[in-house]
Amino acid sequence: MTEIIKQNTPADTIDRRQFIKGTAATMAAIGFTPSSSAEAEERRRIPEAHYGQTANQTDDDVRVVHSVCLGCNARCGNRQVVRNNRLEKISGNPYHPYNSMGKPIHYDTPVESTLHLPSPVCGKAHDAVGYVYNKRRIIKPLKRCGERGEGKFEEISWEQLIREIAQGGRLFSHLGETRDVPGLESCLSDALIDPKDPKLGSKRNSFAMITGRLQSGRSEFIDRFVKSSIGSINRIGHTDICGLGFRMGNFALTEGKQVELKADPWGAEYILVFGANIYEALQPGINTYGAAVADRYAKGEVKFTIVDPRAQNAAVHSHDWVPVIPGRDGAFAMGMIRWMIENNRCNTAYLSLAHLDAAKKKGFSCYSNATHLVIDEPDHPGYGQFLRVADLQSNPTENDKTIFMVLDDDAHPLPYTANETALLDREASVMAEDGKTFKVATSFALMKRAVFAHTLGEYSTFCGIPEAQIIKTARDFTSYGTKAAVCQYHGAGNYTNGTYAAFAVALLSVLVGSIGMKGGYLTGGGAVASWKNGEYDLNNFPGKKKPTGVKISREGGKYEETAEFAAKKSQGGTGYPSHRPWFSFTRGGLSVEAMSGIDEQYPYGCKVLFTYFYNPVYSTPGGYRYRETLRNREKVPLHVSIDIGINESNLYADYIVPDVTYLEGHYGWLNPHAPALKFTGVRIPCLEPLTGRTPDNKPFCLETFLIDLALALKLPGFGDNAIAGSNDAMYPLNTAEDFYLRAYANIAQGANLPQASKEDTRFVEKNYPLARNRTMFSDQHWRQLCHMLARGGIFTGYDTVFSRETFLHGIDRVVLYNEKLAKTRSSLTGKRFSGTLQYLTPEDASGKNIAQQDQDYPFTVITYKMHVHTQSRTTWHRYAMELFPENFIQVNTQDAKALGLQSGEKVRLRSVSNPAGITGKVAVTQVIRPGCVGISFHYGHSQLGASPVLVVGAKDVFLGGPEVCDKDGVTGVPALGAGTNPNLIGRLDANMANTPLVDVLAGIPDFSSTRVKIEKSA
Ligand code: SF4
Repeated sequence: MTEIIKQNTPADTIDRRQFIKGTAATMAAIGFTPSSSAEAEERRRIPEAHYGQTANQTDDDVRVVHSVCLGCNARCGNRQVVRNNRLEKISGNPYHPYNSMGKPIHYDTPVESTLHLPSPVCGKAHDAVGYVYNKRRIIKPLKRCGERGEGKFEEISWEQLIREIAQGGRLFSHLGETRDVPGLESCLSDALIDPKDPKLGSKRNSFAMITGRLQSGRSEFIDRFVKSSIGSINRIGHTDICGLGFRMGNFALTEGKQVELKADPWGAEYILVFGANIYEALQPGINTYGAAVADRYAKGEVKFTIVDPRAQNAAVHSHDWVPVIPGRDGAFAMGMIRWMIENNRCNTAYLSLAHLDAAKKKGFSCYSNATHLVIDEPDHPGYGQFLRVADLQSNPTENDKTIFMVLDDDAHPLPYTANETALLDREASVMAEDGKTFKVATSFALMKRAVFAHTLGEYSTFCGIPEAQIIKTARDFTSYGTKAAVCQYHGAGNYTNGTYAAFAVALLSVLVGSIGMKGGYLTGGGAVASWKNGEYDLNNFPGKKKPTGVKISREGGKYEETAEFAAKKSQGGTGYPSHRPWFSFTRGGLSVEAMSGIDEQYPYGCKVLFTYFYNPVYSTPGGYRYRETLRNREKVPLHVSIDIGINESNLYADYIVPDVTYLEGHYGWLNPHAPALKFTGVRIPCLEPLTGRTPDNKPFCLETFLIDLALALKLPGFGDNAIAGSNDAMYPLNTAEDFYLRAYANIAQGANLPQASKEDTRFVEKNYPLARNRTMFSDQHWRQLCHMLARGGIFTGYDTVFSRETFLHGIDRVVLYNEKLAKTRSSLTGKRFSGTLQYLTPEDASGKNIAQQDQDYPFTVITYKMHVHTQSRTTWHRYAMELFPENFIQVNTQDAKALGLQSGEKVRLRSVSNPAGITGKVAVTQVIRPGCVGISFHYGHSQLGASPVLVVGAKDVFLGGPEVCDKDGVTGVPALGAGTNPNLIGRLDANMANTPLVDVLAGIPDFSSTRVKIEKSA
């Protein structure tokens, strides 16, 4: 039976029945009640009325294409059904394990025989029709014809677009701007970007491209242009706002080998969910992870507990809902660990295994370094590093410097591979050959010491959860052997100091020994074959550049190697602090710190900024600060956005390049997310691009833009003779297909696929627009390729990735103590970070506790995703907006009572960083922790159709033509801007030029520390 734990007062305790009732009431309150318009009613009654008679995929007059969805980042397969060259509907791909509960149909099944089979996709995917045909899509290139951000553009020709961006010049003199705008050409120099600091690299780094929604395929294509052809190090992804916090926990756990691990939804018997919205979002998505858990829950095969300040929809099935204080997941996890150690509930037999072979012998696929010794003597030069054989010897060999040490049963040090097991929980002294003794401790002992720094009662206070609940969850979690694991996502660590919280959460699975086990904590199984090698060498080309220097986000950069550090040190100081934080211990696209680096021109300035499907003003907590950055022509001399519409950020761009949607392009090869599975899906467009075309008949899109820029600038890697074949022939790269289809051929060849049957080949040639490129390949290669294309990829099922109980594609080792982390210093203080767990609260860059600083703002804002939306662009999803026309500010019943608020009332939320605040409608609910307000993303747009934009020649620029334009430009639809965007009150850091708050260790943007006052609003 579901147990809802006590919160602050007995009055808050609700039982399962009340809870479900509360959820239903809340769903109604937050807009689940459908629109009352007659049109909407008609659509609900007869869905076909919306788009006409829905095509059946077995009808003769339809085309069917198997592909990969990009309604969100979950990478499900899809089946695109097209009639009269118009997309009519989307369903799932039965070959793809994400659409078939991990058990796809046999891969060799003839394609035509599968067309009648049902296969699910989620609501977001069904809304693809409204997305691709959105009338406010731009289909022609735009150039700014007013001040940045003023919302004035004009259509320009493709040739003008390419020429001006390539060459720069007095591009806006007609607007009274006298400056010379730098073109991309000005970045093609190997001269140092800062002659005083060679470590920063060349002037090529003054070109930066920040990418929003991006997947493999386009990612590699963009890298080819930015890194290998231009030679800039600044292709910056957006992993930080996507969910860097939980990834950093896994990054620390796996020594950087993997960032995504999750509980196995098909095999686990108990899943502890931290900040992962398993029935509404996540990757794998709703069709996959949530469906597997719900199905197995219904059969009584799995239990799960949700640790989250908000009870997501899955909470109706959860064993417990644990409404932790935002940003305190680590305290809850460390409280559990303390209880597990004190009550002998850790899997000590597993943790005592000292090396991989020993672990394998006992039926595990991965070992931990729990027994490995760390030098624990503050005066020792190797303090904080692992004890290696060399540390005890006077004349060590090179090999001795690599071998870790453990303690045998008599507490004598010996190489870690000497025995199968070693002492687990021990602090000791060891003597080196020179007679010096010093203290050492096992990784486990150091972790335990850190955990025992606080009592269970203190952890209870920190996380706001009663001790009894921490114990109950710990007891539950440790009652399923290796069939228990955590599933953590965005909420578990996306705040400052989130690395340590997520590290503690990740370690729970290791402490029960479920890492790499069926039903346990698993990575993804990876790709079936490589895209870059095979018949075609897509990785190398004559003249390929190798980027040098430091990213403008400072990701991976070492501050101690900079001229800034040396200069500060030479003036008698320690060299610290750096001007902004450096992040030598992190992995992911740090888009927020890239934007802040651009704003502060630190460590160098950006001349040319390309943004791709990236909307930082809307999507970043505190992103409103970047309006100032993007408006500033000194800080961003040239800004080019590549996108399908005009959003809150590219409103400030100098040029907007029209792009295609994933139904018309976005070729790519998509490997599984964690957990488990091994496959390669391929994205295959079903429509010819709806954008305009170049004089040589190429569609306006990202690839055409980059190719034509490369040709204009004579960059290597593009044009004729750009791709080497295995037969010494050279092939062109003049179109998107020149690149992607050769990558697909490599994958098919690498996977050793058979040649497609005549029927499957005919299926591709009849249905797939890309078949027009068939002459690129020999008959033999084309038919091999068709075997994959016809099925939308290469797939196997869940059952193929295990050998008995162990995962075949996992990692070898995880750590309780991370040496690299222990050796990393904060570039702001010079202090070392802890190599093992640590309880830390969210802090700003000065190290001050944010909650204490903002205590006059009593409520903490948390955010979440709804099942019908992705982050920002699904305001163009017609059904989603019809079902949920606006979002609400969720306030707990008890808080609402104290404030005298009722559902539907309008309130203003003010934060310390945005005193003017934002407004929205309240939904009073029991599904959120008292003291918190919950706001979904997706709403509160000011652009993407919500407001008019002046566009000269608009009728030719927007897909809807005259229907969405008046004499001044494109019209606005206020309904597209309904609701509230929580990022507009995001906390800024006054210590860092008032830029958005980020974690100083890893660059994690903070989604959980903004505090607000709630006031009634007129
Ligand atoms: S979860 Fe839905 S939108 Fe996301 S990839 Fe899967 S089907 Fe597409």
